[in-house]
Formats: sequence, C-alpha cells, structure tokens
Amino acid sequence: MIIRFWGVRGSLATAITAQQVEQKIRKVLELASPADLLTPESIENFVRNLPLSIRGTYGGNTTCVEIQTDENKTIIIDAGTGLRPLGNSLMARGKMTGMDELAFFFTHSHWDHIQGLMFFVPIFIPGNTLNIFSCFEDIETRLRYQMVQTHFPITFDELGSTRNFTHFAETSSVSVYGMTVSAKSVRHPGGCYSYKFKQPNGKTFVFCSDAEFNLEALANIGPYIDYFFGADVLVFDTQYTFEESLQKIDWGHSSAAIATDIAMKSQVKKLVLYHHDPSYDDAKMDKVLMQAIKYKSMMEPDHPLQIVAAYEGLEIEL
Ligand SMILES: [Zn+2]
Ligand SMILES: [Zn+2]
Repeated sequence: MIIRFWGVRGSLATAITAQQVEQKIRKVLELASPADLLTPESIENFVRNLPLSIRGTYGGNTTCVEIQTDENKTIIIDAGTGLRPLGNSLMARGKMTGMDELAFFFTHSHWDHIQGLMFFVPIFIPGNTLNIFSCFEDIETRLRYQMVQTHFPITFDELGSTRNFTHFAETSSVSVYGMTVSAKSVRHPGGCYSYKFKQPNGKTFVFCSDAEFNLEALANIGPYIDYFFGADVLVFDTQYTFEESLQKIDWGHSSAAIATDIAMKSQVKKLVLYHHDPSYDDAKMDKVLMQAIKYKSMMEPDHPLQIVAAYEGLEIEL
C-alpha cells in the first residue's frame, strides 16, 4: 500500500500568511551562496537541500489520508479539507470520473474531519460509489446534518454519487479491497475510533488521531499496546507539546513525548506525528519533530523506531 497525506492539521484549516512567506524568502536569501545560484541545476540542488520549513510548508489542510492499495483501490481516512485536493488528484489519475468506487473510514465527525466532503468533486458525479465505513452507527445522520441548507447550499440527497453506509463494531473487523480493518475506541470528547489496516502480506498501518493519552492513561495502556503492537506505521495525534498536554487535560489530544513512549513500547517501526496544532508554524513543527527524536534518543538510544512529522505530500510505501 501507499499512504499519502493530504491534510495533517488539527482543529482548523490554517492558511500560511504573507508574513510567513516573506520570512521564508529572507531565510533562503541568507542561506544561498553565489555558487548555489550559478545554474538551474545548482539552484535545484540548493532548493532540494533546504529544510521543509524553509522551502515549503507542513501544510494547513485538516485531516485526510489516502491509502492506495496494492490492487490500486482507494481507501480514504476522514474528510477534512485535505479531501478537496485529493479528489482533484484522483480524477487527474483517471479515478472516480464515473462508474468507479472507493471506501471511506470516518474516525469521528468533528468539523476538521468532515468539512471537505462537500468539496470532493467525485461525490457529485453520477455512477461513482462511496462505500462509507465507521464504528459510529449514526455516521450517515452526522454527514447529512452538515449539509442541511442552513449550513450548506447543496443537500446530501442532491449529490450525484451513490453512498453505501456500513457500520461495524469495535470488536469485529471488515475486509475492504483486500485489507482487514479493525478498530479501537480512543479517549476524545464525543468519542473517536482508531483504525488498523492490515494487508495480506502482513504489513500494518494504524491511524490514531484525536486521541488523548495522558500520564494517567499510561497506567492502563496494556490493551492499546496489544492493538498497536508491531505496526509498520503508526500515525498518532501529537497536537500538543508535553507541557501543553499537562495543561489541556480532557481536550482530547496527546503529545509527541507520549506518542514516542507508546510507539517504543509497542515495537512500532515508524511513528508519524500528526494533527498539528493550528497555532504551530513550520519552524515550530521542525522543533516538535527534533524534540521527539531527541526524547527517543535520551530514553532508548538503541531503539530502532523512526519518527517523522506528517506534511502534505508525504508518501509512505509499505
Ligand atoms: Zn481533529
Ligand atoms: Zn476531534
């Protein structure tokens, strides 16, 4: 499978500001030497070697992750604002232009996880089928509710595509496009589910956003360690710094330090920091990642866990 990140921001879509762009240009000019600017190749090489926070951005769209299965089928986790560019990309790849289908898994229905649905062009195209899965029995009602005319000009029944809804219990699993998908409830206001995708060759991807694991939760972490155990990739809610997480108890999110602890205990191979706070700029995101890597080195220097921070455009192949 290929995992692609289209929205990595939590809570609220966050556009980069003109001042932030100006700041990046200033930094680039400070770093460039005359030799870097001699030829198109030297410029390309210079740009490619700049940190992401200077040459680009982690991104401001909210939660949306694509799984492209080995059979080239599409599974989408959550419909934050990142779903809009994903829809355009699918169509540019010749998918979902009519008489095609894909699957959605919804973790929960907070705005930052559903707001892109009405801007997903394939949902308007007759012949397309959206197979929608969730552990919430009323997910259809919730999605309909954001499209009543007091909130949005087009209603759910006016969409051209076919939507099929499947509820499955946390204690069961479903088979979708060759993947076995299981779920686990996590602590979050209003409830939320983590989903685990296992492909036939045994490679496992766990998506666990909007989940509060605090110091108290670590005392009863056993069932979660079993659930995460041995995952090839674990995407984890790390909205707060450790200090913020101590102040924002019951806000429903975790810190990178706790995520690192849990990932190491669970023998996870790659931890992806996710659901970035809207107040964090790109330089702060670099720091969050560096601190998590430093924390891992201090706690267990020989542990093979890899840590990356999610950004729009990140692709991981399993
Ligand atoms: Zn969220
Ligand atoms: Zn949430």
